[in-house]
This record gives sequence, structure tokens and C-alpha cells, in this order.
Amino acid sequence: MSSHVVPPLKDKSLFKQGCFVDGEWIQAKSGQTFEVQDPASMGKIGTCPEFTKEDTEAAIAAAATALLSWRTATGRQRARILRKWYDLMIENADDLATLITWENGKPIAEAKGEVVYAAGFYEWFAEEAPRTYGDTIPATVPGNRVITVREPIGVCGLITPWNFPAAMITRKIGPALAAGCTIVAKSPGETPFTANAIAELGKRAGVPSGVVNIVTALKNTAEVGETLTSNLTVKKVSFTGSTPVGKLLMKQSSSTLKKLSFELGGNAPFIVFDDADVGKAVEGAIASKFRGSGQTCVCANRIYIQRGIYDEFSKKFAEKVRGFKVGSGYADGVTHGPLIHSRAIDKVEAHVKDAQSKGAEVLTGGQRIPDLGINFFQPTVLTGMTADMQLASEETFGPVGALFPFDTESDVVALANKAEVGLAGYFFSRDVQRVWRVAEALEVGMVGVNTGLISDTAAPFGGVKFSGFGREGSKYGVEEYQTIKTITFGGM
Ligand code: NAD
Repeated sequence: MSSHVVPPLKDKSLFKQGCFVDGEWIQAKSGQTFEVQDPASMGKIGTCPEFTKEDTEAAIAAAATALLSWRTATGRQRARILRKWYDLMIENADDLATLITWENGKPIAEAKGEVVYAAGFYEWFAEEAPRTYGDTIPATVPGNRVITVREPIGVCGLITPWNFPAAMITRKIGPALAAGCTIVAKSPGETPFTANAIAELGKRAGVPSGVVNIVTALKNTAEVGETLTSNLTVKKVSFTGSTPVGKLLMKQSSSTLKKLSFELGGNAPFIVFDDADVGKAVEGAIASKFRGSGQTCVCANRIYIQRGIYDEFSKKFAEKVRGFKVGSGYADGVTHGPLIHSRAIDKVEAHVKDAQSKGAEVLTGGQRIPDLGINFFQPTVLTGMTADMQLASEETFGPVGALFPFDTESDVVALANKAEVGLAGYFFSRDVQRVWRVAEALEVGMVGVNTGLISDTAAPFGGVKFSGFGREGSKYGVEEYQTIKTITFGGM
């Protein structure tokens, strides 16, 4: 097993083993808890409350009461609190990163990067909060005047995943609070402690009681999910996770007609044309594919290389991957940590074996690393990939760089668009006409041109097709948490 020493938190009071409801840290009414494990060592980190429907309803009620005053606070008042929360996250970045690495496994440098990105959503939406303008509309009816105002939609249910324990929750809380909404967030059962530490910092920043409520569950995940999606008080649900769970939550939300934003799985194509700078394309593919050990929704999954540069790209790409160091996220020089759980490892292994059985070649990796722990898998490069392999149509969510050869631009665009999901897509080319053509042709919500990294608090984030709908971050993020009210003045 990996040697694994967790650095102590500078502020131990940020480690909360409870749920945050109405400004207090509490336990489930039943007293039940679940255990959270470190994916690197499988050691126990701590416990969190196993919330039920009844516990969750109490959190929703607290959010409904808090809404009465939070919705009437001015944008500037809300902005000051969000800004203070941002400052506290940055001041406590080391502790937050320690918690992320502990429960998610990603290397500490990457975890620190996530904290800065995550805090950035509070900074960004603090700036947006005072600027949620309406319109003045020239009426077509004589004597009428029309204006619109943007109002908070109400209590929001947020459901977030484990791959970015900090950023996925701040990307939802930031715009919700800026809009004047109050929230009940179900943090991921795998990584609840980062969200808890952020909530504690929110309390210190002056977020009023009941405005932010964090609930946890593992065994009762579906029960809590159903409560958030079927409770009439909750007016909006924002979810990041897998497409099957998204479909279930949408069905559950239908009887109460909630407004929804879903950011679901991807299966990103990463295309390198033979007019590209191959060295830069390799760097871009490494960044896009292997961040978080391949467990991000915008990770390159299918890497398409034009035949003329296929061998050169494969060689350079595999060389970089051989240089990775896998291990505990706290250890010096480690570039890649464990995967989140054994189901993730099983999926990665199944995809690799399926590709091999259909003729793919392993250039490097391809195996579990039992000496490090049960959740470790070698960073892997596969060549000779074909469209009939499982990995071509399913997101692997792991450290496998799968290289598919292609011949023409129209072939590769057709292959890229064959996926039923459409979150991110990337390509490298130096031909300016091709850049426009392909950027427009890809059926995705976000395109990276000559870059493998596209996440930015200022840029809209979201997908099309089975990757979901709605946009997070950017100037559009707040709109997801608002309704537009039209006010018509007659008799002028
Ligand atoms: P998942 O969709 O099962 O879980 C994601 C989150 O949703 C979890 O934190 C979980 O607590 C919650 N969840 C699950 N079922 C729920 C329910 N019935 N009601 C309410 N909440 C529920 O994903 P997973 O098993 O953790 O990972 C499997 C796949 O999901 C991955 O391979 C990947 O494709 C996808 N995924 C995508 C993202 C993303 O950022 N879009 C993040 C994590 C996982």
C-alpha cells in the first residue's frame, strides 16, 4: 500500500463531521452516519450523517425561511458576503487542498489549483450580484410601458459530484446566492468534508443562517435526491454527475415542474490535424486527458490523430505518460493519484481489456497497481483504436489515452459527433479556415482550439445532447437561478 501521511490542518475546526442546517452543525435525527474513506490508503477519514427524507425536509424548510430576507437583500449586500467568503477560501487554501487530496486523492498541487478555481466562482458572482439588470421594452400596445425584473427563483436543490469536491459546489452556490436564492446542497458521499469546510467558511463570512444548508448521505443518496427533486418548496435543481442519474432526477422533478440545470457526462473528442504543432498538441492532450487521473467531465476520451502524424504523436504522447509518477497525492513528485473507488477501476480495466481484445496495442500502462492500493491504475496509452471499441462510445473516466487514427476532416467530424453526449471537444490545427469550420461543426457545448484546458469562471460551462443543459459560471450563470417578471404599465 502507498505510504500516506496526511498533513495536519492548520485550522482543525474546518474538519466538520456533520450537516450544516440553519447555521448549525447537526447530526441525522436517527443518529446514523456513514464512513468516508481515503481512496489512496482506504483508511477511514471520518463519518458524516446519513440524512433521510425528514432531515432533508427540515433543511428545505430552513432555506425557505431564510429566503424571505435573503431575496430582499441588495445585490451589493450579497456581493460583500460572497467576496468575504472568497477571501476566506484563499486564506485557508492549504487546508482546503489538504481535505481535497485526502478524500478525492488528486495530487496536492492540483488540489490547490482547484481551490483557487473554486473560490473564483465566489469572486466572479460577487461581481455579478449587483448587475442582474432587467430590460425596458418599447411596447407595441399604445399607451403601455413594459419593463422586466429578474427575481430569485427561490429555494434551490444542488447535487454535486466527487471529482471536484470544492469547485462543483461553489460553481452552483455562487450564482444561486448572487441571484438571491437560498440552497440545500447534497454534497457527494465520497467527498463531503471539503464542502463542509467551505460551508464553515461561509458561516464565518457572514452568510445568514439557513441561506446555505449542506446535507450528506451515502446509503440514502437516492432518498435525499428524491426529496430535493419532488419537494414543492424547491423551485430549481442543479445537478452535476452522470447521464443516467440526470435522467432519473429529471423524471422525479417533473411532477413539481422544477427549473433544471444538468451538467452530465462527456466523451470528449480531441482531434489533432496534420497541420498542427505536434509538440503543443501532445501537451494539450496530456493536460486534457490526465488531469484528475482522467476523472473530469471535460477530459479528452477519444483522441483522434490524422494518419500522417499518428506515429510521431503516439511516440511523444507515450513518452510523456511514461514520465508520470503515480502515488499518494501528498507524496513529493507524485503527478497522479488514485481513482475514486473500485467501480471506477473496474470500468477503466474493462475498457482497456475490451480494446485489447479488438486489436488495440498498449504502448504503456494497462494494469492495476496493487502495490500502491486497490484504487490505483497505471496511466495508459492505447494505439490502433477503432470505432467498435467500448471506449469509442462510453466515457472511461480514468487515465487512458486512447489514440484513434483518421484520414479526413469530414471523417473525423462525423466520428466526433457520433457520441450521444456533447460536453467538450478539442482540436489542434493551424489552418484558420479549418479552425472556424471544425469549431462550428462539433456538436458540443465547449470547444478548445489549440488548448486542452477550457475551464474559466468567466466562460459559460455546459453541454448539449445527453451532456445536459444550462450554463454555469460566466454572465449566464446567475440567470439559471432567476425568473424574469414582466411588468406592464398601462394608461400612459
Ligand atoms: P453518479 O452520477 O452516480 O454520481 C454523481 C453524484 O450524484 C454523486 O456524488 C452521488 O452522490 C449523486 N447521486 C447519485 N445517484 C443519485 C440519486 N439517485 N439522487 C441524487 N444524487 C445522486 O456518478 P459516479 O458513479 O460517481 O460516477 C460514474 C460516472 O458518472 C462517471 O464515469 C462519469 O461518467 C459520471 N460523472 C460525471 C461527473 C461530471 O462532472 N459531469 C462527475 C462524476 C461522475
